[in-house]
Amino acid sequence: MRAVAVYPGKPSSVHLADLPKPRVEDIAGGRGVLVRVLKVGVDATDREINEAKYGAPPPGYDFLVLGHESFGIVEAVGPSVNHVKPGDYVTATVRRPGGSIYDQIGTSDMTSEEVYYERGINLLHGFLTEYYVDDAEFIVRMPHGLAHLHVLVEPMSCAAKAVQQAFEVQRRLRVWRPNRAYVMGAGQIGLLSTLALRLRGLEVYTLARGAPPSLKSEIVESLGARYVSTQDTSLEQLSSKVGKADLIIDATGSSAVAFGSMQLLGHNGVLVWTSVTGGRQHVEVPSDKVNLDWVLGNKLLLGSVNANREHFEMAIKDLALGEVTYPGVIERILTTPIRGLDKYEDMMHALVDDPQALKVFVEVAAG
Ligand code: BGC
Ligand code: ZN
Repeated sequence: MRAVAVYPGKPSSVHLADLPKPRVEDIAGGRGVLVRVLKVGVDATDREINEAKYGAPPPGYDFLVLGHESFGIVEAVGPSVNHVKPGDYVTATVRRPGGSIYDQIGTSDMTSEEVYYERGINLLHGFLTEYYVDDAEFIVRMPHGLAHLHVLVEPMSCAAKAVQQAFEVQRRLRVWRPNRAYVMGAGQIGLLSTLALRLRGLEVYTLARGAPPSLKSEIVESLGARYVSTQDTSLEQLSSKVGKADLIIDATGSSAVAFGSMQLLGHNGVLVWTSVTGGRQHVEVPSDKVNLDWVLGNKLLLGSVNANREHFEMAIKDLALGEVTYPGVIERILTTPIRGLDKYEDMMHALVDDPQALKVFVEVAAG
């Protein structure tokens, strides 16, 4: 069975690997689900893994199969599985449990251990192959009516977690009625966070570099949010014109913007960082000023990574509500199909060099 893999630690090592086809019996206790892979999305994490900035192979391998945004169809299930059946469309969560209490209660996204296990990213093979098998616990059924949004469930789950965590942590205030949100970045997480916040009724400003009109600005405006190009409007101009934000989600992939955003948050607000920045950038920040403002304003900084099963279920609900609220908008994110696993070079090329590509995904098989 073919798989798209890299040698972690070795830049630009993307290649085709060969793996045996997995079987339902590979998973103990009759809990196996065998999935035929239909589509797999790739993102900046895959790009950074291929740049040798991130990621590790499973023990005993020198390569790592890529791909953590999966969409497939169930081919077979073990005797103890009853929430999915052959023919169902499914996706899968990415992280697998370690040993902490958080891992044991189904929240491995919150593991307290330094080592984490993520399919296609760290210590476990991913889904960019023809078949995979996994424990039923990690398989999430997708409604047929959302099949056209296929690989977006995983990134949506990360956006849904970021928003849910913000609301959860703001219970410290007893009453929190956020009006204004800034979303930094209009890549997939920025756009999907914009959607999640619009569905919760917030006034959303989504910031990105490019001047409008563009596909990004059109998607943002179609979701009823405002697109702000940082070429035309500086961050200070925006916050002095419309006011500081109650909630900021940073999804730029730039630690400079993540820190810069600290100056745009209003009193009692929460800033959520979602980007994984594998580089080594150093930035200077006006630390006395930020420190003072943050203390005087009771402001909160929250990191959010990955997503557990609950967030995948939220993601499916948000996508479904998004479809009826803003018909036909979400699928515009799915810009760049790559036909077949053997086109892995085109896939990396689109990910690295194509400025029009919002979402690159591999069509592994028809179905
Ligand atoms: C994935 C997450 C993962 C994170 C850090 C993201 O691209 O979507 O599932 O936890 O990278 O490895
Ligand atoms: Zn990702």
